[in-house]
Amino acid sequence: MQKHFYLPMIAATAIVLIFTSSCNNNQKSMNAENKVPAFDTSGIDRTVKPCDDFDNFANGNWKKHNPIPSTEGSWGSFDVLDKETREVKIKGIVKDLLTQENLKKGSDAQLITGFYKSYMDTATIEKRGITPIMPMIEKINSAKNTMDLFAVSGELAKYDVGGPFMVYVSADDRNSTMNAVSMGQGGLSLRDRNYYENKDSAMVKIRAEFVKHVDKMFGMAGWSVTNPGKTILDFETKMALLQLKNFELRDPVKIYNKIAFGELKKKAPGINWGDYYKNYDLQPDTVIVWNLDYLKNLDQLIKATPLEDLKTYFRWQVLTNYAGLLPVQFNKESFHFFNTIMYGVKVQRPREERAIMNANRRLGMPLGKLFVEKYFPESSKKKVSEMIENVRTVYGERIDKLSWMGPATKEKAKKKLAAFTYKIGYPDKWKDYSTIDIQPDKLLENCNSITLWEHNDMIAKAGKPVDKSEWMMSPQTINAYNNSSNNEIVFPAAILQPPFFNPDADDAINYGGIISVIGHEMTHGFDDHGSQYDGSGNLNNWWAPEDAKNFAALGKKLEDYFNAIEVTKGFKIDGKLTVGENIADLGGLTLGYYALKKSLTGKTEPEPIHGFTWQQRFFLGWAQVWHENMTNESLINQVQTNEHTPARWRINATLAQMKEFSDAFGCAGKMAVPDADRVVIW
Ligand SMILES: [Zn+2]
Repeated sequence: MQKHFYLPMIAATAIVLIFTSSCNNNQKSMNAENKVPAFDTSGIDRTVKPCDDFDNFANGNWKKHNPIPSTEGSWGSFDVLDKETREVKIKGIVKDLLTQENLKKGSDAQLITGFYKSYMDTATIEKRGITPIMPMIEKINSAKNTMDLFAVSGELAKYDVGGPFMVYVSADDRNSTMNAVSMGQGGLSLRDRNYYENKDSAMVKIRAEFVKHVDKMFGMAGWSVTNPGKTILDFETKMALLQLKNFELRDPVKIYNKIAFGELKKKAPGINWGDYYKNYDLQPDTVIVWNLDYLKNLDQLIKATPLEDLKTYFRWQVLTNYAGLLPVQFNKESFHFFNTIMYGVKVQRPREERAIMNANRRLGMPLGKLFVEKYFPESSKKKVSEMIENVRTVYGERIDKLSWMGPATKEKAKKKLAAFTYKIGYPDKWKDYSTIDIQPDKLLENCNSITLWEHNDMIAKAGKPVDKSEWMMSPQTINAYNNSSNNEIVFPAAILQPPFFNPDADDAINYGGIISVIGHEMTHGFDDHGSQYDGSGNLNNWWAPEDAKNFAALGKKLEDYFNAIEVTKGFKIDGKLTVGENIADLGGLTLGYYALKKSLTGKTEPEPIHGFTWQQRFFLGWAQVWHENMTNESLINQVQTNEHTPARWRINATLAQMKEFSDAFGCAGKMAVPDADRVVIW
C-alpha cells in the first residue's frame, strides 16, 4: 500500500524488485489444490537443442500451450501465480466476507466488502457520471494565476493526482535511520521520457493515439477545449525533455541534492512552493531534490505556458487518474489507450475480476492479513531463513576468492553481507486502517479515503525515525525486494509457492528457483546501485578506488553485452538501465548454483531425473521460473522503461555468460560466451 510506489520511484530510491509486471495481468482458472510435480518436463521442447536456444528448449512447449490470454499483455509464471492468488484465494476471502452481516464500521471486513460493493454498483456509478470529480475540476478552473494553480496542485497530489513533480517521505539516503522529504520528477501520462522522444514508428503511433485518446476523454466529459490532446502532448513532451532519463535515476548520488526549503523559491520562483507544500500537509526545513536543474527549467516552461494550457493539463491529470472509477465509457476508453495501445491487451477483464483486483491493490494489507492466516504455512519461514543463511555463507566464500577485489574492500563487503537482515511472509505488526471511510455506494470517495489514509501515514513519518519493521509490499504480492537503506531483503508470502518454492520439489529445481531469487535479491546489495550503500544503509562509499574501478569495468562489459541484443525490430535492451538487474541475475544464479553444489558435499551424486543431471535441472529450474509469452507492445514497453531484461533474455543471455551452464550442457557457440569474454562479478 505504499503511495507513490511505481517504477521511476523504485528505480530512484533504494528499493529493487525481482520482477516488474508490465501491466495488469491474468487468465485461465487454476485449481489451488493442484499438486505441482517435483520436476515438470512437460514444457520442454526436445526438438530444440539446449545449446542453440535454451529458452525455447526449456519452455518451447509451455509457450506453445500457454498463449497470451486476450485480457493480458504478457503471460508467465508471475502472471499465472498472480491470477491464481487473486481469483482463487483473494476472491474466496472476499466472497466469504460478503456473507457476513452487521460488520463493524472500519473493520477489515467492512472495508473490503464495502469497497467491493461500491466497485460493483455500476448503476450508481453511471448515475453519478463525472460529478464526483467536479469539486477538483472547479478548484482548477477557479485559479486566477499559476500561483493559485500550484496551490491547488498540492491539494490534489494528496489524492495521487499527478503534476510535474512528486513529493514523498522516505528514509534519508545519507542518514538511513531518519525519514526525510524528497522531491522527484513526475506528471508524464506516458510514464517515461522515451515515449516522448523516441522516433521509432511504433512510438510515433502511440503519441498520435494518445492525442486522440485525450480528445475523446475531454469530449466525453463535455469539456469544450480546442485540441486538448495536442496541448497536453506538447506540454508533456517539453516537460519530459527536461527530466532525467530512466537510467540516470539509478544513480543515488546524482539524485541526492539536499537543500533548505527556502532555496526552492530561488530555483523556481514561479512555482508556489509555500502553498503547494502547505496544502500537501508538509512543512519541511529541507528537501532532497532529484534534479535541481529540472526545477529551474520547469520554472521557465511554466512561465512560457499560457494559464489555460496549464489548467487543461491539470484537468487531464484529474480525469485520467480517476478514469477507472467513472462510468463505463471512460473505463473503456482509458483501457483502450493504456492497455490495448500501450501493451497490446485486447480485452478488458470482467468487472468482477477488476473489483477483486482493485480491492487487492488498494486494500492490500487488510486483505493480506486474512490471506496469510489462511494460506501461509509458518513452517515456510524456517525453511526460507535456512536457505537465506546458506546463500549468505556461499556469498561470503565467493567474496573471499574474488581476484578483482582487494582485501580491504573484501572485508567491508563481508561486513555488509553479515549485516543483511530479511523479512519473510508478512509484517510482524499490522497498521490500523479503521479510520478509512468506506461506503457501499461511493466508489470514488472510497478510493480517495484510502489514498488520503496512505498520505497521512506517509507524511506522519517526516522528520521521524525510520520504522525498520515496515513492509513496502503486501504479503499476497508475487515479488520480492531489496531495500538498500535498510540493508534488507524481503520475501512476501505469495512468492513462496511453486514454481518459485516447492517443498516437495527436487532440490536442484528449488535452487534454480527460489534460492537463485534469494541470491538475486542479495546481490542487489552489491549491484551498481546497491553497492553505493554501506551495511547501515547509508549512501557512503566503502570501496577502495582500485576495486571500484574494476567493478565499474565489469559492469560496463555486461552493459555492452546486453546493449547488443535486439529483442524486436528496432528495439534493443538498454544495457545501462538493466545493468543492476543483470548483475543480480548473474550473481543470484552463481550463488544458487554453488549453494546447491555445497549442499551435495559428502553425499552421493544425485541420480539424473528424466535424463537430466542435477546441474542441468538447476538451470531448467531457472528457465521455468522465467517462461513467458509477451505481446510486441509489452516487449517494447519493457525495454523502453523497465530495468528488468525481458524474461527470454534473463534466460538466454544470462546463462550464456555462465561457464557452469556451458559445462552442464556441453555448449559451445550460441549459448556460450567465449571464456575470455565472460563476465564473472560475484
Ligand atoms: Zn532485481
